[in-house]
Amino acid sequence: MDDYPRTLMEFERRFATEEACRAYLVQLRWPEGVRCRRCHAPSVWATGRGLYHCPFCGFQTSVLAGTIFQDTKADLRLWFRAMWYVTNQKSGVSALGLQRTLGLGSYRTAWTWLHKLRAAMVRPGREQLRGTVEVDETYWGGPKPGKHGRGAAGKALIVVAAEVDGQHIGRIRLRRVRDTSAPQLERAVQDAVAPGSVVRTDGLHSYRRLVDRGYVYEVVRKEAAVGDNLLPRVNRVVALLKRWLLGIHQGRISVAHLDAYLDEFTFRFNRRTSHWRGKLFYRLAQQAVAVDARPTLRAPRQLVGV
Ligand SMILES: [Zn+2]
Repeated sequence: MDDYPRTLMEFERRFATEEACRAYLVQLRWPEGVRCRRCHAPSVWATGRGLYHCPFCGFQTSVLAGTIFQDTKADLRLWFRAMWYVTNQKSGVSALGLQRTLGLGSYRTAWTWLHKLRAAMVRPGREQLRGTVEVDETYWGGPKPGKHGRGAAGKALIVVAAEVDGQHIGRIRLRRVRDTSAPQLERAVQDAVAPGSVVRTDGLHSYRRLVDRGYVYEVVRKEAAVGDNLLPRVNRVVALLKRWLLGIHQGRISVAHLDAYLDEFTFRFNRRTSHWRGKLFYRLAQQAVAVDARPTLRAPRQLVGV
């Protein structure tokens, strides 16, 4: 059973102390009991404050080591409030919003925290899409491009995959690619979609060899017909994605950090029907302790417009 608070009151009661937060992370990280991170011995000694000592190999570890919380000097209660805030705002938050809400000392800290949390929004080894999947590409940033033009400087090319769920959209995957060449697009599809699935695209040449990769390939358009909406789910996702990106920092998102925003959008979109926002909090906390700590990111200097 997923164990998470349903309401703000439950959250406040549950995570009133640093120890309670730590215990929650221990439970998420080692649901079968704490193990040594080096020799995987199943019985380690708790030496206090979330630290563990392995009697077999002598290795010392903590519940925070190797996670996005590694080396944090902040109270875990503050991190928990950040996760609660981020997952309870339906359309996402800005660093400034996080800084103000939590009373963080600097914008830079808020920005770094947000990026660490975004890094945790990708589930390691997440499941691939299956069934029938619409796939198309879109551009972000730079001047208005031609539909299938080669990526120019300052523009990012994104492959969008959306599961067909009756009339609705199932899960989605987003991935940035270098260009519209066959190897780039094939790899994006292979990452996102399970073999044996039906991949529905427009007639772009680069997808043709998907058949050799074990996919059923379905072309919805032999020649460009203006006004036809033959990939409605992907088009809807693209529209929502662009509106969302524009809403954050007025669309001034550096291409270097775009991947993190794509992950956040995917995380939110795939859980858009979750009844309890606490479930998103639970997933985020769970993934936060499953993700290797990333090097500290620097706040962006150069931003690209839309
Ligand atoms: Zn050990």
